Amino acid sequence: MFLTVLAHQAESAGREVIAVNPAGTSRTCARCGHSARENRVTQAGFACTACGHTAPADVNAAINILRAGLALRQAAEAA
Ligand SMILES: [Zn+2]
Repeated sequence: MFLTVLAHQAESAGREVIAVNPAGTSRTCARCGHSARENRVTQAGFACTACGHTAPADVNAAINILRAGLALRQAAEAA
């Protein structure tokens, strides 16, 4: 229901909505792809134990979600 309303709103604004599976996006490093629970130093903070990348946790997750959405769109276009 929420996605239906959101999709209509986005369409009328000339935007696109792509539903993304959020699993792992909050604990995966947006720089190197390392995924570990230990990457979440706090609720708000992200610090990759593999490459040292640090960012606000929401920003790191948003980059992963954007990347996943763009990959889905690219796959849909290629099909
Ligand atoms: Zn990393």
